[in-house]
Amino acid sequence: MSGEGESLSSTEKEIERALRPLSFDDFTGQEKILENLKIFVKAAKQRGDALDHVLLHGPPGLGKTTLSHIVANELGANIKVTSGPVMDKPSDLAGLLTNLQPHDVLFIDEIHRLNPIVEEYLYSAMEDYKIDIMLDSGPNARSVQIGLNPFTLVGATTRAGLLTSPLRARFGINARLEYYDAKLLTTIVLRSSDLLGSPIDDEAAYELARRSRGTPRIANNLLRRTRDFAQVKGKGHITVAIAEMALTALDVDQNGLDEMDNRILTTIIEKFKGGPVGLSTIATACSEEAETIEEVYEPFLIQEGYLKRTARGREATEMAYRHLGILPRHRTGE
Ligand code: ADP
Repeated sequence: MSGEGESLSSTEKEIERALRPLSFDDFTGQEKILENLKIFVKAAKQRGDALDHVLLHGPPGLGKTTLSHIVANELGANIKVTSGPVMDKPSDLAGLLTNLQPHDVLFIDEIHRLNPIVEEYLYSAMEDYKIDIMLDSGPNARSVQIGLNPFTLVGATTRAGLLTSPLRARFGINARLEYYDAKLLTTIVLRSSDLLGSPIDDEAAYELARRSRGTPRIANNLLRRTRDFAQVKGKGHITVAIAEMALTALDVDQNGLDEMDNRILTTIIEKFKGGPVGLSTIATACSEEAETIEEVYEPFLIQEGYLKRTARGREATEMAYRHLGILPRHRTGE
């Protein structure tokens, strides 16, 4: 889908990086998390300590990576970036950890996907700034302990529930990022259009914002696509008419649901009588990975009231029926 980081080209990734706020003051929304982080960063700096380890969780595109860079900037420290699935052996982690300077930040994205053996090494690193490394194998095998510089681990995950409890317990700071409301996203769209040098009307910025699934990454993506429409179909200026044209072309509907959101709801209603139906069945019927549905689509559909998660599976709500213009009585098969 258009909001996913993985599907971006390298130029688009560069633009995404260019739009990334660099300081606490530049970051919009997530006020409570920001207020707390500001205090923790200040206190750690005053004491001359490394900041406690930070776990950031929430749906993709809400600013977890951005915040980890901001924390490093505000600490005046370097940041090393990696992700759970790319470290398949302890030496990958040891290489990163032993290169950290005092108070540096190590950012591990998708931390719920760490190999369990690598994860075990992380425990003593986080707790005592030490790791045990095995030298040699067979009868000559012995382990040596290496001391590390005090550092801060910032872990990000879309699935906090999948974290093991020993790992979770080692984070002193734990923050859940929430979806953004339309007002905050309007501020973000206006800021991004300024950085991109694309003039935009306030009304158009609001229209893009309110149809961005509460997600800054999607708001920025829609802005970039709308900018293309303004350039080709208009005079470069993004008006509300241009925004409408772009959103329609991108299959974003009036309520901000995209093509896959609507496909999920339609499938549940039309193929499974509104549910309850299991996640893997929905995934097969929609030709999408169950994990993507669970991490990317479902949280927003649930929060907006289109979908319910019950013990017996997923159920479409009355609101989903209304949204799709289908009569709810269809549901009981009357
Ligand atoms: P995540 O790591 O949670 O998937 P990112 O930090 O990569 O999300 O954010 C995705 C994009 O959205 C980034 O390019 C960033 O510019 C933008 N973004 C995220 N949060 C904010 C925010 N609060 N203010 C402005 N831009 C934001």
